[in-house]
Amino acid sequence: MTNYFRSNVEAMASYVPGEQPPRGTQVIKLNSNENPYPPSPAALAALQNIDGEWLRRYPEPFGGEFRQAASQVLGVPSDWIIVGNGSDEVLSMVIRACAEPGHKVVYPMPTYVLYRTLTEMQAADILEIAYKKDNVLPLAELIAANGAVTFIASPNSPSGHVVPSDDLRKLASELSGVLVIDEAYVDFAEESALDLVQEYENVILIRTLSKGYSLAGLRLGFGVANPKLLDGLFKVKDSYNIDAIACAVATAAITDQAYKNACVAKVKASRTQLTSDLKELGFRVGNSHGNFLLTQPPERNAEYLYQKLKEQKILIRYFKQPGLEDKLRITVGTDEQNQILVRALSDLLGMRN
Ligand SMILES: *Cc1c(COP(=O)(O)O)cnc(C)c1O
Repeated sequence: MTNYFRSNVEAMASYVPGEQPPRGTQVIKLNSNENPYPPSPAALAALQNIDGEWLRRYPEPFGGEFRQAASQVLGVPSDWIIVGNGSDEVLSMVIRACAEPGHKVVYPMPTYVLYRTLTEMQAADILEIAYKKDNVLPLAELIAANGAVTFIASPNSPSGHVVPSDDLRKLASELSGVLVIDEAYVDFAEESALDLVQEYENVILIRTLSKGYSLAGLRLGFGVANPKLLDGLFKVKDSYNIDAIACAVATAAITDQAYKNACVAKVKASRTQLTSDLKELGFRVGNSHGNFLLTQPPERNAEYLYQKLKEQKILIRYFKQPGLEDKLRITVGTDEQNQILVRALSDLLGMRN
C-alpha cells in the first residue's frame, strides 16, 4: 500500500489499552483500575435529567459548569482549570502545545505507557530514565535532561508509589520546561502536589473522574495550572471537547465528595486486605497508594498466571516490558471479587486441597 502517513506515525506502535470486554460479559474485571462501585447517585440523577435541548445545542466550549464545581472542591480559581475528554486528552494537549521535533519529552520508567505514544505522535524526542531501586526518582538525571515536557505520575502506575513532594518541588524549580504531575490516582493517596501549581507556573496537575469517581466511561478529566500555562493548551484543544452530558454528570459527581470518599475508603480497606492475602500466598506486594497492586508471584511466571486467570474470566494486567515481566498489576475490586481472585490464584499455585 502507498504510505500515506507521516514517518513518525508509520514507525510508531499503537497504544494497547487494557482489554475491554463487551458490556454484559461475565468477567471479574481487575485490569483497568476502574472503581468497583457505581457512580454517585447524584451523578446518575443528573444523567436522568439531561434535556434534549442540551443535546440539540453545542455545549459550552470550556466545561464552565464543571470548572466552577471543581474550583469549589479544590480551592483554586476556575480559570486555573482546563477540562478534557478524559485526562488523556489533557496530556495530549500538553504535548501538542509544548513539544515539537527536536524537543525532548522526559519521564521515569516504568510508568504510564501513553506518554510514549503521545510523544511519538508528535515526533518529539523521547528520553526514558529508569527509576532507581525501591522507586527512587532519578532526580539528577531528570533535571539534567531538562525536557520541554517532563511527566511524573504520582501515585505512579504500575508501581503505586507516591513521588516525594521535595523531589517534585526540586523538579519544578530546576526544569525550564513544563512539569506534568499526573494525579490520576490521587483520590486513593494521602497527599497531593496541588500546592506546587500555585508556586510554579510551569507545573500542571492532571486529575480524572475515571478512577476515584467511578466514571471511566464518561471520559472526563482536567488539568490545574497557572492560567498563563493554560492559555497555550486552550489553543490546541478541540472546540467542543466536553459534551453536554459529560459536563453535567461530572459536575454532580465532583460535588458529591462524601460519596466519593466513602467509596475510596472501602477500596483502601480492600487494598490492605488483598495485600495481606497475596502475601500469605507468597506474593511480593509493593506498598500502593493507588487502587491497584503491583505484585510478583512466588514461583510460576506471571504471564502464566495472567493467562490462566483469563481462562477463568478473571482479567488482570500483565505488561511484557523490561522490569515488569515477572509482575502482575491487579486492580483492587470489591472484597468479594478479591476473594474470588485470591482463591483462583491459590488453586493455580497448588496451595489448596
Ligand atoms: C487511567 C490513567 C489516566 C487516564 O485517565 P482518563 O481520565 O480515563 O483518560 C491518566 N494517567 C494515568 C497514570 C492513568 O492510570
